[in-house]
Amino acid sequence: MARPLRQLSPSSIRTYERCPYMYHLRYNERIRVPSTAAQLLGRAVHTVIEMYYKQKRSGGDVLDCETAFDVLDDALDATLHELDEAGRAEVEDLRELGYDLVEYYLEEVAPHIRPHLIEERFAFRIPGVDVPIVGYVDLVDQEGTVIDHKTSSSPFPAEYLAHDVQLLTYSLGYNALRLGARQRPGQLPLINLLPPVRLDVLVKGEEIAYQRLDFRYEQEHVEQYVDRVNTVAAGIRSADFRPFWQVREPNLDVCNYCDFNDVCTYRLPAAEDPPCEGGAQDQSGTDAE
Ligand code: SF4
Repeated sequence: MARPLRQLSPSSIRTYERCPYMYHLRYNERIRVPSTAAQLLGRAVHTVIEMYYKQKRSGGDVLDCETAFDVLDDALDATLHELDEAGRAEVEDLRELGYDLVEYYLEEVAPHIRPHLIEERFAFRIPGVDVPIVGYVDLVDQEGTVIDHKTSSSPFPAEYLAHDVQLLTYSLGYNALRLGARQRPGQLPLINLLPPVRLDVLVKGEEIAYQRLDFRYEQEHVEQYVDRVNTVAAGIRSADFRPFWQVREPNLDVCNYCDFNDVCTYRLPAAEDPPCEGGAQDQSGTDAE
């Protein structure tokens, strides 16, 4: 069953681009798959970071590490019911890593950021697409940079932000928030007014590493974005939910890392050699709808 398209989000756009059938299972069939322990850890770290910036913006005492560990524990414990016994055991193995990630972030990254907006909902329109694009901007600093943070098992490619839909959507979303009624629906911003973006990545490993990517968009990035979102919207409208390998060159990694690979009848057979660590990020962060 195809449901009417009422809105798009960075998640739904990315899902359709990865595999239209994945979009169908998630947004039409609404199949729920259990979260992984790593995903729950990423969400719990995100909860701590959000609370830290809210306190910092309000001018009160910011979270110290011990309190932050308690917040992490509470956030993790509140989601344990989503896991089976093996998953819960895995969370216990990951809890120490969570403390390390939080401590690293609060000591090395957060003190240098002055928050302006936190978890702000946006909605805007682009030419050719008759539904709004919606989401939440994680964080905007007082210099007007849109910031996202993720945890990952490997560093991101240096050119990641040039192709990423999520942060460009956040940048357009924050721009729409700034302009309010002064921006006509469907009107694209002047490129030199589009807020810059930044991605902070905590790379998990024996030692935690920090990767920072900064990017400013050019006209071509916005034009490509408009084309991509129009293609996604047209595919959903025409109920084209073929698995990705029927519409482009197959890549076994896509099925290996798909949340639905246990239930999908179109799944490609697993690769004989599992992909290397750098092949795809086990990443966690906000991906608000
Ligand atoms: S398992 Fe493969 S074909 Fe099936 S939804 Fe996921 S990515 Fe698409």
